[in-house]
Amino acid sequence: MSQKSSQTINLATAGKLKEFRLSGIAKSLDLRIAQAKDGNLSYSEFLALLLEDEANQRADNKRRRLYKQAKLPFEKGIEDFDFTFQPSVKKKEILELATCQFIQRKENIIFIGQPGTGKTHLSTALALKALGYEYQVLFTTVWEVINTLQQSRADFSYHKKVQQYLKPDLLVLDELGYRSMAESTVEDFFEIVSQRYEKGSIIITSNRGFQDWEKIFIDKTLTGAILDRLIHHCHTIVIKGESYRFKNRKKD
Ligand code: ADP
Ligand code: MG
Repeated sequence: MSQKSSQTINLATAGKLKEFRLSGIAKSLDLRIAQAKDGNLSYSEFLALLLEDEANQRADNKRRRLYKQAKLPFEKGIEDFDFTFQPSVKKKEILELATCQFIQRKENIIFIGQPGTGKTHLSTALALKALGYEYQVLFTTVWEVINTLQQSRADFSYHKKVQQYLKPDLLVLDELGYRSMAESTVEDFFEIVSQRYEKGSIIITSNRGFQDWEKIFIDKTLTGAILDRLIHHCHTIVIKGESYRFKNRKKD
């Protein structure tokens, strides 16, 4: 085949690969052709390698997309958590949760503890594990959720925004209780909790114990309804220690 016609074929192939969104093959094609010529690969071996390149590229893209969508506040894992500083947190229990079977079973986790005791850290660490299992995760704060839903009423995107909180396999709602909620925002919060009940896992962090949740949600009936759904299938981890931010200060 003349050089010109092989160039034309390559161009047409590149065009088709782009059109069919086969970027994994497009990336490795030249290398695989050279490899085939050098190593006398059979046609089927050559094709199998190209398809594997495409599969790897797609898996990679999916992982990256999941990480980006998750919006984690930082990347800290379980290995970064000092369990000796916080003995009320049982390493065994966290490692069990890290298997992410709780997500398969649609169970919830509630971390309760004072500021700085590692609630966000542990939630993020579990979210990272979930991403490792290719679960869809969304990390957000209670405040952001209720704000988003309130604003969405103005532009009629309420239903769409609710869906965004229902879709992930794991929804992390950080910082419940830092600010008090208005009655309509409690109803929005209830909407998310009740629609995810037995359908998708939630991790909630709060600086206030259950006995105080009526103060957060104001309405007694709604508080009962929210608690009922959240704690039916739930791992509650009460962190009794003090803030990790005091750790170094204490040594002085
Ligand atoms: P909370 O969400 O309970 O207010 P964070 O999880 O944000 O607390 O923790 C505050 C800071 O201290 C973070 O940087 C976190 O990584 C760190 N931290 C908290 N507890 C521990 C711990 N036991 N071991 C290591 N780092 C910790
Ligand atoms: Mg926090």
